[in-house]
Amino acid sequence: MTSKGIFVFVGLWLMVIGISYYQQAEDDKRFGQKIAYKQAETFFQHILLMRYWNAHHGGVYAPVTESNQPDPYLNIPERDITTREGKRYTLINPAYMSRQMAKMEKGKTGILYHITSLDPQRPEDKADDWEVRALKAFEDGKTSFSELSDIDGKSYYRYMAPLVLEPECTKCHNEPDKNVGGFRGAISVSLPSSSIEAFIDDRLVNLKRSHLVIAVTGVVALMLGYWAQSKLNRRLTKAETRLQLAYLDALTLLPNRRYYDAFLLKEWKRAMRHHYPLSLIMIDIDFFKTYNDSLGHQEGDRCLREVARTLRRYCRRSGDLIARYGGEEFCVVSACNSEQISQLADILRMAVEMMQLPHPCSQISKYVTISLGAATLIPNDKMQISELMHYADQSLYSAKQAGRNKVVKYKVEIEAPNDSEL
Ligand code: GH3
Ligand code: MG
Ligand code: MG
Repeated sequence: MTSKGIFVFVGLWLMVIGISYYQQAEDDKRFGQKIAYKQAETFFQHILLMRYWNAHHGGVYAPVTESNQPDPYLNIPERDITTREGKRYTLINPAYMSRQMAKMEKGKTGILYHITSLDPQRPEDKADDWEVRALKAFEDGKTSFSELSDIDGKSYYRYMAPLVLEPECTKCHNEPDKNVGGFRGAISVSLPSSSIEAFIDDRLVNLKRSHLVIAVTGVVALMLGYWAQSKLNRRLTKAETRLQLAYLDALTLLPNRRYYDAFLLKEWKRAMRHHYPLSLIMIDIDFFKTYNDSLGHQEGDRCLREVARTLRRYCRRSGDLIARYGGEEFCVVSACNSEQISQLADILRMAVEMMQLPHPCSQISKYVTISLGAATLIPNDKMQISELMHYADQSLYSAKQAGRNKVVKYKVEIEAPNDSEL
């Protein structure tokens, strides 16, 4: 993995965590709202139950006090009674009880509930805008209404459901236009949203914390993975470099003698298996000692590098090898026949001559030249690999004897049976 790759992975990971956090936070908010509406609904049912209890007893008498004055809207004969001892009681019907409880609830818990209808008797029962919408929805057949809405600038989860006339209610409500089971107003319950928001905020803090832990753990795991992989890569590169150095000549960067030996042996065996010719060229720079003597060792090194570069440029055929054999000697191994290797040797000789590297002390040219000895064999199990090297060496010697800057091809008698192939 590259350093760019790790950033992409970390980015993707953080994106996944971000999406997960966002979705769960939205879920929690929706869940919080559902809880709020459910609470309001339960509250509503509880009020209904208390009203039913009251109606079931035909209302209940409570002592008249400063906060419990007789209900002026209740017009029945025995609304107020006085005991023999002179104590005064007044009848509390479900509606009056609900109003008194609503006052207490508001003061104690901040939860609001309100009995209302579209044509209320009492001014305080007048529906607000939201309640009017809900009441109209009930007239259209809706059975409950809930929304997040403001009351006097404060946000509330509001729930509202209709009230129907129970048989017990007819004891007080005996108006001719009201039938049992008929719609007669509604109760709205409003829970301050701040209480639910505090619960949601708490959940969000936990959610943030857990996602942060997961995100950091993931990033650390990715970083550790990346670090371990980079370390392994560095080791591999080092090992590879060491291996390369073991088989490379440091001066010319050509394969070295060790590599050449292994390569030649491998090619020799392959050629023996498939019965095809294997060729070798030994190359030696002419009068290199005097080159060094006249221009210095450093220039000599530079010359070796230049010659190596030129030789490599012309030995590009796949399967061919050009290596530094040692000193100012190079060799080429190629799975080709006698004719092809002679052509390649000629090309190499000309290429070096064409470089026109000045040689002040050569006895045969103004420039650096090379002598080449080539040999070709079709290996068989009676032959030794050293024979091929010997023939190439002999050819090189002959080239030197013949005046240098020459190619000599060794004529091998044992090639005869396969000469057409060579
Ligand atoms: P010939 O034409 O017969 O090959 O003559 P020569 O002078 O090239 O051959 P000789 O074997 O007498 O000299 C080879 C020289 O190559 C001797 C040595 O100083 C030089 N040489 C060998 N390796 C290196 C090297 O790595 N760098 C440099 N600068 N010179 C080297
Ligand atoms: Mg030499
Ligand atoms: Mg030489």
